[in-house]
Amino acid sequence: MPELPEVETIARQLRGLVTGRVIGAFRSHWGRLTEPVPPRHFARRLVDRRIEGVRRRGKLVLFDLDGGDVLVVSLRMTGQLLFREAEAPPDLRVRGVIAFTDRSEVRFVDTRKFGRMAIVDGREIGADGTARSAAGARAHGPLHATSGIEPLSRAFTTRWLGDFLHRRGRSAIKVLLLDPRGIAGIGNIYDCEALWRARIHPTRLAGSLTTAEAARLHEAIGWVLRKGIRLGGASRRDYLDARGRAGRMQREFQVYAQADRPCPRCGRAIVRSVQGGRATFHCPRCQTVRVP
Ligand SMILES: [Zn+2]
Repeated sequence: MPELPEVETIARQLRGLVTGRVIGAFRSHWGRLTEPVPPRHFARRLVDRRIEGVRRRGKLVLFDLDGGDVLVVSLRMTGQLLFREAEAPPDLRVRGVIAFTDRSEVRFVDTRKFGRMAIVDGREIGADGTARSAAGARAHGPLHATSGIEPLSRAFTTRWLGDFLHRRGRSAIKVLLLDPRGIAGIGNIYDCEALWRARIHPTRLAGSLTTAEAARLHEAIGWVLRKGIRLGGASRRDYLDARGRAGRMQREFQVYAQADRPCPRCGRAIVRSVQGGRATFHCPRCQTVRVP
């Protein structure tokens, strides 16, 4: 599942590739892609619009259109946005195509078909990407799903994180970090990697973290996300960037999917467990359950 670094990689590439291009046509090959809006109506709102920019919010890709509308793409489990020339060989499992007037296009490829597109009024999205009004957020499901703070923004300070951990003190830290209503964009990979870097056991209650641990966690979240972006994201199964290339972050995993391999810090075997229905990886020596 693409997380913040993967979606950021795609958004940055598309910004360079499609900004200034004009949409000539929109085709849907999967009826639920634009639901509840019929593809025909969806297309009518996109055609002749110029792309003014592309950005990321949480795990969403936002295309800013002239006239003020924003095309919101939720990649969910397996979505890809591939920039192609129209003449390029066909891709498998294309659910939608944004075709530009210059014969280039963005193909939305999605094996599992959970990905969705929506068009929202730009005024409902703040400059920082937050959904402005509760009403707007309700009306547009994908936006509502990521109303949390951006962990690479200036607003995400050690102090903010400390207050948040205190407020949600009864939650297991691993599960809390995955909740997009708190912090946006963190999925299982970067969650496991950040907790290992901060030396915090995934089942610890958020409220039990010391000030020093909260500070380490703050540093670790930023560090792993920036590293993921620098390496173009992590490709395990489906993720490809907008140019159809795999990322390199998977080569740098310290604990994620590394069960039984030695911890890079202490040599103890990494343990895989299941927490909140998700696979979790941690080092039993570096990340102890005991509160320091
Ligand atoms: Zn260790």
